[in-house]
Amino acid sequence: MNLTVLGLSGGFPAVGGATSGYLLELNGRHILIDCGSGVLSNLFRFIRLEQLDAIILTHLHYDHISDMQVLKYAIDLTRKTGLDMPAIPVIAPGTPENIAAGLQSDGNLIIGQINANSEISMFGATVRFLPMEHPVETYGITVEFAGRKLAYTADSVPCTNLPPLLQDADLALMDAGTLERLRKPIMIHLTAAECAILARACRVRRLLLTHLLPLLDPAEILAEAAAQDPGAELARLLATYEV
Ligand SMILES: [Zn+2]
Ligand SMILES: [Zn+2]
Repeated sequence: MNLTVLGLSGGFPAVGGATSGYLLELNGRHILIDCGSGVLSNLFRFIRLEQLDAIILTHLHYDHISDMQVLKYAIDLTRKTGLDMPAIPVIAPGTPENIAAGLQSDGNLIIGQINANSEISMFGATVRFLPMEHPVETYGITVEFAGRKLAYTADSVPCTNLPPLLQDADLALMDAGTLERLRKPIMIHLTAAECAILARACRVRRLLLTHLLPLLDPAEILAEAAAQDPGAELARLLATYEV
């Protein structure tokens, strides 16, 4: 499997950046995981629209889905140029219901709902969906293929499903949306330190910190994680990682 980072900003895009989006290539097929602001522009650096086989949305916060709306235009306009463009399967949570309803696009997208703790087969890989702890229905995902495991926390705070999600992952993408010095009574993202501690405890082979808030210094995020796990890395925009 190859994972390309199309967007790594949390909340809103950094200058020249994009919010959450990752392109997973497996078995010659292409799955887009999350589709935030600016992701489509970066996707087209790597593949054409008609090469996109499926989309997984971990949750319906706009920094993970905002480019889904212009994606519908892209599909329509591609067809108008005469290219054969099949509807794209999308797997997403069913709530919040008003936002889920806004995703619908007959003929362009085929929306399937994620069921908690479910497991599906995609292009020869096993994809699992584990409920995370976040203000809306959110799923962390694991993708297992050819003896390798990718784990993606989506957005979450520490919860009982994180250890099984991360356990023995070859590559883990973790929401490092905040820092220990910004800790509040109610949290909605992991701190960089929490990511590193969890990744170490779960024997993650390679930890990529992502969902980076553009208001923070990336060096500070990395330093906080590296104090717990010297192998921690910041995800790099447009980099491709072999899983
Ligand atoms: Zn987010
Ligand atoms: Zn979120």
